[in-house]
Amino acid sequence: MARLNGKAALVTGASRGIGRGIALRLAADGATVAVHYGSNLARAEAVVREIRSGGGSAFAIGADLASAGGIEALFEALDGRLDAPATGTRLDILVNNAGIGQQIGIEETTAASLDEVLDINVKAPILVIREALKRMNDGGSIINLSSAVTRIPLPNLLGYSVSKGAVNTLTLNLAQELGSRGIRVNALQPGIIDTDMNAGTLQDPGGRAFAAGLSVFGRWGQPEDVADIAAFLASSDSRWVTGQLIDASGGSRL
Ligand code: NAD
Repeated sequence: MARLNGKAALVTGASRGIGRGIALRLAADGATVAVHYGSNLARAEAVVREIRSGGGSAFAIGADLASAGGIEALFEALDGRLDAPATGTRLDILVNNAGIGQQIGIEETTAASLDEVLDINVKAPILVIREALKRMNDGGSIINLSSAVTRIPLPNLLGYSVSKGAVNTLTLNLAQELGSRGIRVNALQPGIIDTDMNAGTLQDPGGRAFAAGLSVFGRWGQPEDVADIAAFLASSDSRWVTGQLIDASGGSRL
């Protein structure tokens, strides 16, 4: 039996990149996956088709996570779609993956640029968790996407790095608060992964050399490298793991 059979999962920002990889992997392990997307319905539907063609179960669900209203609308739309007859709407796995990158030096940083990155990378996951908890079974798993930049400081990534530092903190904090419900909260800290977020870096020869050189394995990561760890954290194989900030960067160092 697949290890996530009968489980219901929500993956935010799952129409592409790491979120897509995680959605595909959780579905392959048997979970029913709500494939959340920000604006690109066509790409989300392509992920759903890919899951269904492999015999899995998924549906697409859209919402802008930059506003509290958008997040509430997401969960209202979810209600009735992740139903279990005995418990009503219910969720077992939440992956807070949606996020934005931001390359701005301190001199160019503005209140608006900070709002932009903190709203989607910090406020949204907190509000998504608050709503998810109303529907989450005891024993659920929450996985937050942080970043290796919290450990390896890089220039011109101040707002982004601070936002991911906050993701680490909220992970440590909520692991304590939710332990009594048996809900586990962990964070993944990817290094450079081949997604749209790094398209600029990975198109540039210097950027490619830098990205490959960061990991001890001499390559940058693929979404599957992160998705496989997420599947472990989503499953009961990691039942004794909570409040952990898990490196997913191939041992990256400067
Ligand atoms: P990506 O840009 O390919 O995907 C990000 C997703 O978030 C997209 O689906 C996008 O639609 C969604 N999103 C962004 N803003 C949104 C909004 N306002 N409302 C709804 N959805 C929104 O990025 P990725 O590389 O797949 O990154 C996924 C996560 O992993 C992010 O949290 C990112 O910070 C983190 N991460 C990525 C890397 C990397 O190297 N790619 C490294 C470390 C951490």
